[in-house]
Amino acid sequence: MNKIEHIGIAVKNLKDSNDLFSKLFGKPHYKIEEVKSEGVNTSFFKIGDNKIELLEATNEDSPIAKFISKKGEGIHHIAFDVNDIEAEIKRLKKEGFKVLNENPKKGADNKLVAFLHPKSSNGVLIELCQEIKG
Ligand code: ZN
Repeated sequence: MNKIEHIGIAVKNLKDSNDLFSKLFGKPHYKIEEVKSEGVNTSFFKIGDNKIELLEATNEDSPIAKFISKKGEGIHHIAFDVNDIEAEIKRLKKEGFKVLNENPKKGADNKLVAFLHPKSSNGVLIELCQEIKG
């Protein structure tokens, strides 16, 4: 793994949270993107080399809706940048981690993504992401 790619924060209302985090960071988000397959609207902020992703559920079955109903708003996942997501999935499975997406899928912000089950990583939901080139 190369570096933290972004930190994902689950929010109830993306518009309100965009306003809040814009005030916090002193600058607006740089993109909003819906990821239909995950049932989420996302928005991204760039702070130096770091990125923050806000996630709002678009339907009740969305993993974000379930997370918020169980735990409330807050940090949802940490995403790590990888060069070869398929190789990382293989390596982490071998190490005993529970991979939620055997086949990486298209995530927000032009990435291929896969998640590790928080039960296999001390309660932290880990996202692997590889930039889609070209
Ligand atoms: Zn993410």
